[in-house]
Amino acid sequence: MVDRVYNFSPGPGTLPVEVLQQASKDVLNFKETGIGLIEMSHRSKEFMAVADTTESMLRELMEIPDNYKVLFLQGGASSQFFMIPMNLLGDGKKATYLNTGTWSKKAIKEARLFGDIEVAFSSEEQTFNRVPTQDEYSVDSASEYLYFVSNNTIYGTQFSSFPETDKVLISDMSSDILSRKIDVSKFGLIFAGAQKNMGPAGVTIVIIREDLLDKTPKNTPTMLTYKTHADKGSMFNTPPCFPIYVVGEVLKWLKKKGGIEAIEQINIEKAGLLYDCIDGTEYYRGHAEKASRSLMNISFNLPNADLEAKFIAEATEVGLNGLKGHRSIGGCRASIYNAFPREGVVKLVEFMKKFEADNP
Ligand code: PMP
Repeated sequence: MVDRVYNFSPGPGTLPVEVLQQASKDVLNFKETGIGLIEMSHRSKEFMAVADTTESMLRELMEIPDNYKVLFLQGGASSQFFMIPMNLLGDGKKATYLNTGTWSKKAIKEARLFGDIEVAFSSEEQTFNRVPTQDEYSVDSASEYLYFVSNNTIYGTQFSSFPETDKVLISDMSSDILSRKIDVSKFGLIFAGAQKNMGPAGVTIVIIREDLLDKTPKNTPTMLTYKTHADKGSMFNTPPCFPIYVVGEVLKWLKKKGGIEAIEQINIEKAGLLYDCIDGTEYYRGHAEKASRSLMNISFNLPNADLEAKFIAEATEVGLNGLKGHRSIGGCRASIYNAFPREGVVKLVEFMKKFEADNP
């Protein structure tokens, strides 16, 4: 077994070691069939069972109501930026977006290709250091849906409570799905790329309320129509078999850990260790306003860019990898998704304290 370092990568991110070990075995020979998992027909009974398990585990852990479909799609979370308005808006229809970072901005750009888009809130002028409270925006009565990003991976902000609205609520949960308990029934559509909290890149999970499947304009390409995939159980064409399998294994791991409620407590504790360190000194400055802080991505700065570069280089030397902030805001970022071990956070906090003492 290769020595592993603590990997703070924002995504693809750390996965549970036991899942990686099991996957290595299954890639060579899946369940004693003599065929590796990634060589197997997606219509084989073995793979169909894998896909069924992944879906049922997700339904169980997230308590997804029966009137929702779970889809396993390709094209990355970014393809949802256009699929959502393409399927849900027609000529002249309106939708409302909350602009809280790079990923909402990209979604807004795509949505404008399909409808009349209202941006009801933007924190762009404050370098996206916060998400809005309910009283900071209103939604046009003609809007088909309200779209927001629940966790802003780059800026390290997160909605601690979700928008209240009578509109269809849509959320990009790419970087915090499965990290905290949510009430799926409040949403019309939730989507997330797998590569942070769920598995490897290559599958995007879409959870969609059934009544929304009938809104798609007729001239929409078949592959880009949600109903195509909903009707065929995500087997209209070859699905991303390997990522679907790994997601299933991660879900089994999560269930063993005690499910979402248990991991949420662990996530609160892990993030708390880092925020306490940041709050205990003037040396480190968190990017996000306190009320908007993310439990998944913690973006922070040091007194200057030279110290930041030194911090990142020395951290890497002691096995703390992937701490460089996104190129759009610089600084440092610690991404601590579900599978990131608590010991790694403790080690980072120790390193931060020592670095501060050694580099006043
Ligand atoms: N939304 C969020 C919140 C993200 O963090 C990311 C990727 N980091 C994306 C969307 C885009 O995902 P993908 O690369 O799978 O298109």
